[in-house]
Amino acid sequence: MKHVNILGIPFSIINHDYLIKRLSQHVQSAEKSFVITANPEIVMQANEHQEYKNHLLRASYITADGIGIVKASKILKNPLPERVTGYDVMMDMLQLSCDHQYSIYLLGADKETLLSTKNNIEKQFPSIRIAGYHDGYFDWNNNRIAEEIHEKKPDIVFVALGAPKQETWISQHIDQFTKGVFICVGGSFDVISGNVKRAPLSWQNINLEWLYRLLKQPRRWRRMLALPRFSYRIIKQRVKNSS
Ligand code: UDP
Repeated sequence: MKHVNILGIPFSIINHDYLIKRLSQHVQSAEKSFVITANPEIVMQANEHQEYKNHLLRASYITADGIGIVKASKILKNPLPERVTGYDVMMDMLQLSCDHQYSIYLLGADKETLLSTKNNIEKQFPSIRIAGYHDGYFDWNNNRIAEEIHEKKPDIVFVALGAPKQETWISQHIDQFTKGVFICVGGSFDVISGNVKRAPLSWQNINLEWLYRLLKQPRRWRRMLALPRFSYRIIKQRVKNSS
């Protein structure tokens, strides 16, 4: 798999459809896989915290969740084909799971959101096999989640703990499992449960999904502070690459 290095994070040069195909192959051959969908905030956090960066570097695929990453790859003259978001990957993997009887596990969000997520998935994908689920507010050092996943052996585990918890949780536990495709899906359960609306396609098409989310959830403004620093570092990397 070819990569583009964005401030030390290797992004997979892959489009959405091909990633889905690869993940389906991994499920069929019971190969473990770890998918991260990253945005500029995640890249900046990894640059500031080596331990977190080491967790990210264990992933099988790192895709561009945010348009900022796609733009950065173009500036670095090694363009990523498109955004590959956690939500879109989750919806297509749910459809495949329904069609091929792959079993899934849901980890994350508060109890109420998680239950609505599970109910809505069962409504939309009636023959889906849900091996188990657990909310995302647990005692990090004292819980039975990994044991449960180990026992139930789901084919796909959707992890919606937000960054940096979701990447850290998978990296710390994946060695214990014999199989499973582990996918970081951020705020996807909030959308599937109906608590949060995704930006209309017209906003997504003009690359303003981030602005829509900011307007709907103004508490997210703090994360945006990483963006100017990210842009500055990308321009510096570009200058360095061309000298
Ligand atoms: N979340 C969780 N446990 C935590 C913190 C967050 O399960 O300790 C959940 C939260 O309820 C939400 C999801 O993580 O459903 C993602 O949150 P956010 O929108 O912040 O995700 P991001 O933008 O980082 O992908």
